[in-house]
Amino acid sequence: MKAPPLSYVRAATLSEAFQLWRDAGPDARLLAGGQSLLATLAFRLSDPGTLVDIVRLHELRGISQVGGTTIRVGALATHAELGRHDLIRRHLPLIAEAVPLIAHAAVRNRGTIGGSLAFADPAAELPACCVALDAMIVARNAADERRIPAAQFFTGLYATALRPYELIAAVEFPIAKPGERTAVLELARRSGDYAMAGVAAKTRLAGATLIEPQLVFFGVGDRPVVAERAMATISGQQALPATIAAAQAALAADLDPPADRHGSGRTKRHFARVLLARALARLAGLDEARAA
Ligand SMILES: Cc1cc2nc3c(=O)[nH]c(=O)nc-3n(C[C@H](O)[C@H](O)[C@H](O)COP(=O)(O)OP(=O)(O)OC[C@H]3O[C@@H](n4cnc5c(N)ncnc54)[C@H](O)[C@@H]3O)c2cc1C
Repeated sequence: MKAPPLSYVRAATLSEAFQLWRDAGPDARLLAGGQSLLATLAFRLSDPGTLVDIVRLHELRGISQVGGTTIRVGALATHAELGRHDLIRRHLPLIAEAVPLIAHAAVRNRGTIGGSLAFADPAAELPACCVALDAMIVARNAADERRIPAAQFFTGLYATALRPYELIAAVEFPIAKPGERTAVLELARRSGDYAMAGVAAKTRLAGATLIEPQLVFFGVGDRPVVAERAMATISGQQALPATIAAAQAALAADLDPPADRHGSGRTKRHFARVLLARALARLAGLDEARAA
């Protein structure tokens, strides 16, 4: 199929982008890497009338450390940039580990973190990682800026807390604390495919004890799913076989995966249980194959 008829405008500055967006109306879409938007246009899943290209906006670029506690990532940082940036590799290893799981090199070279979060595909890796890492989404309109915790940003299937004429300017991540461990695992049919199911996990370890563990699943709901009951089961425990089994049992109440082209809800629950065991084993430095 071909895209519907479109107008295209390119903004040179952030304030011009907001002006062009207002002029084009609320249905107009921002164009970042185009890796999701152009596909939805080609399939005629959206008909925005106008594309406002934001890819040249320097205000939305850059990856930097802010003080001693935060890494700020501009919305236009591509997946590839995230994967190779020294600050990300040193302070946000979960993000660096997630990048190779996203699509293929060609998509990673153009796709952006802002686009991935705004598109809010429930099977995408970065939204779940942002929730697991307690990231803040920095949203901007023409006049103001506000910060939305990632856990509140995803409001449904391909839906976010962004308001009309509001864009993602940046994402702010707390720097990983000493003793923090993270892991992201997924099951996909082929390398580069969207996940059939996945999990982004984080914990601190005191000896072998899991402190404040976070388990955020993707591909098993309409948005990233925080596995509250499974987390409560393992918090303050060691990742022993009995604890892992108890967490797997608790997970049943955390997830209600809809059937999709990858399988039934029951199959997806099974995937999630397997991933939970592997993630806990990896966090605790145990043999993953035996844990699952
Ligand atoms: C073959 C293929 C395989 C893929 N596999 C995966 C995968 O395994 N995992 C995965 O996570 N993704 C995957 N993707 C999607 C890819 O990661 C996209 O790059 C990403 O989802 C969207 O980023 P983008 O910059 O390309 O956004 P665009 O396609 O330009 O935009 C997507 C949407 O976000 C909006 N938007 C963009 N930037 C902003 C902003 N700053 N503020 C507000 N709204 C904004 C746009 O208006 C549009 O509605 C795949 C894509 C392809 C083509």
